[in-house]
Amino acid sequence: MPHRSIIEPFRIKSVQAIDLPSVEEREQALQRAGYNLFGLHADEVIIDLLTDSGTGAMSAQQWAGMMLGDESYAGARSFFKFEKTVKDITGFSEVIPTHQGRAAERILFANAVKEGDVVPSNTHFDTTRANVEYQGAEARDLVIAEGTDPAKVLPFKGNVDITALRATIDDVGVERIPMVMVTVTNNSGGGQPVSMANLRDVRAVCDEYSLPLILDACRFAENAWFIKLREHGYEDRTPREIAQEMFSLADGCTMSAKKDGLANIGGFVALNNAELAAKCRNLLILTEGFPTYGGLAGYDLEAIAVGLNEVLDENYLRYRIRSTEYLAEKVYAAGVPIVRPAGGHAVYLDAKGLLPHIPPEQYPAQALAVELYRNGGVRGVEIGSVMFGKPQPDGTDIPAAMELVRLAIPRRTYTQSHIDFVAEVVIDVAMGAAEIGGYRITEQAPWLRHFTARFEPV
Ligand SMILES: *Cc1c(COP(=O)(O)O)cnc(C)c1O
Repeated sequence: MPHRSIIEPFRIKSVQAIDLPSVEEREQALQRAGYNLFGLHADEVIIDLLTDSGTGAMSAQQWAGMMLGDESYAGARSFFKFEKTVKDITGFSEVIPTHQGRAAERILFANAVKEGDVVPSNTHFDTTRANVEYQGAEARDLVIAEGTDPAKVLPFKGNVDITALRATIDDVGVERIPMVMVTVTNNSGGGQPVSMANLRDVRAVCDEYSLPLILDACRFAENAWFIKLREHGYEDRTPREIAQEMFSLADGCTMSAKKDGLANIGGFVALNNAELAAKCRNLLILTEGFPTYGGLAGYDLEAIAVGLNEVLDENYLRYRIRSTEYLAEKVYAAGVPIVRPAGGHAVYLDAKGLLPHIPPEQYPAQALAVELYRNGGVRGVEIGSVMFGKPQPDGTDIPAAMELVRLAIPRRTYTQSHIDFVAEVVIDVAMGAAEIGGYRITEQAPWLRHFTARFEPV
């Protein structure tokens, strides 16, 4: 067969207009927002790559499903459809809906993590870390060393460092480890996948110490696709079978349906431990809602149930992973340093590599993110010392391991020419890198400061 492009496996049924504000409007917007791109109005952005969370386009099947939503307070039909779908994919016996992933984390950690505990993971996502710390515990990242080297090309850079995991458990004492978590794919580590072999090794350590293994499963389908592409023995397995095998190695998961649920809102905790699930449900009732809706409308549960099946479609996953890789290839070919290989949901620009003249305390990745908006109305997000730096009592920060700008690709939302436009903006900004200056923080919150901090140019 002659070469054929991997195309968007859908046609567009409903559109939303986008527009590029003028240079002056962008500059004013930046000043008003204190140079924090979370403070922009979405209408001030032409291509919004802030997040792939809840920003995807739903399918006609999902919208049709929403009309079937059963809004009964207790025992809604939509809940049972949702529950059945989650059970089919994960195999976990207890399914608890939540309004999004962080609610799942809070409910689980409030019942399973206590002060002084240590929760190991490959890399905790920001809300996961914050929710662990909120319980007075430590969130410890144990990704393999290559996982923090942006230039190193490896098939599974999201893997857990098994030696470090063992050492952590021995060092801290098993009684202070409430669970081991693994994030698939590893969002804060560049969207890099975790291999089945590594999950099996983590499982073996957990078995040895009788510890539960919880997956942060937000991008389970993308991780499954990478395993199919890259791990020997999985070439002929379906994404669903691979996902089922991944979940079979764990005791539970937290999930944001805003990612691989292909929904605009929603999440869940799923567990095998019925006693823990009962405690989680009690807390759910206090803050989210009755256990058969968990803070969601019946129609949201329908959309998630359909989305969780659509996300495992091979045509969808082939296009999804290829479209991210396409952006990465374009900017890398032009000499822009990025995390390689491309992650599943995002391309991560390496600001440390591109802006070596800006020290970490002047937030090079923040500077790069601001510049992408200033240049072309493209919004990405800083994943560096603003998000993960540790503020010290003397006002300085311990910098993050990497200074990245994440360009997250919403699911089924932008076309190839949109992505070409983004690549043009990135390359243009990179050409003028030497002129870009750093920022200082003028206001910040005690946790998750990146959402609301204000900056000024140094
Ligand atoms: C998005 C995300 C979460 C949190 O989910 P929300 O729905 O945003 O609350 C947790 N972990 C990972 C890896 C994520 O990407």
